[in-house]
Amino acid sequence: MRATRASRALAELYRARPDAVLSEPEVEAALASAGAPVNKVTVYRMLDRFAAAGLLHKQVDAARVTRYALAPQGEEGATPRFECDDCHRQFRLSQGSAKVQTALRQVLQALATAGHESLAVDIAVRGRCAGCAHPADGAAA
Ligand SMILES: [Zn+2]
Repeated sequence: MRATRASRALAELYRARPDAVLSEPEVEAALASAGAPVNKVTVYRMLDRFAAAGLLHKQVDAARVTRYALAPQGEEGATPRFECDDCHRQFRLSQGSAKVQTALRQVLQALATAGHESLAVDIAVRGRCAGCAHPADGAAA
């Protein structure tokens, strides 16, 4: 991967916000405000390259918007995430993640014992985020 200024800015973006789950327009806007403006095609190309390199995890939300999150590190596969039905923002859930992982390992082990192979695990919780459910409380940062 060529370390262009834009891809360094992209890596920095996810390093600064490791829980971010961003769509292409959001990444494009973030790069522009970080002083590394790039066009849509280039952003998509970089995101796909990062995803192909295993750095980012590509997913499609309920509104069919493609979003990119930092790929889980190590062998712990799936990080549960929460998706808001109203604004379609996504949040990765780190709280309680260990318990989910333990339960998940048992499920995967049971599958393996039965001879099945699991290819991908995606844990998503849908609902309304705090900002949409309680707009009077003011927007959280
Ligand atoms: Zn929301």
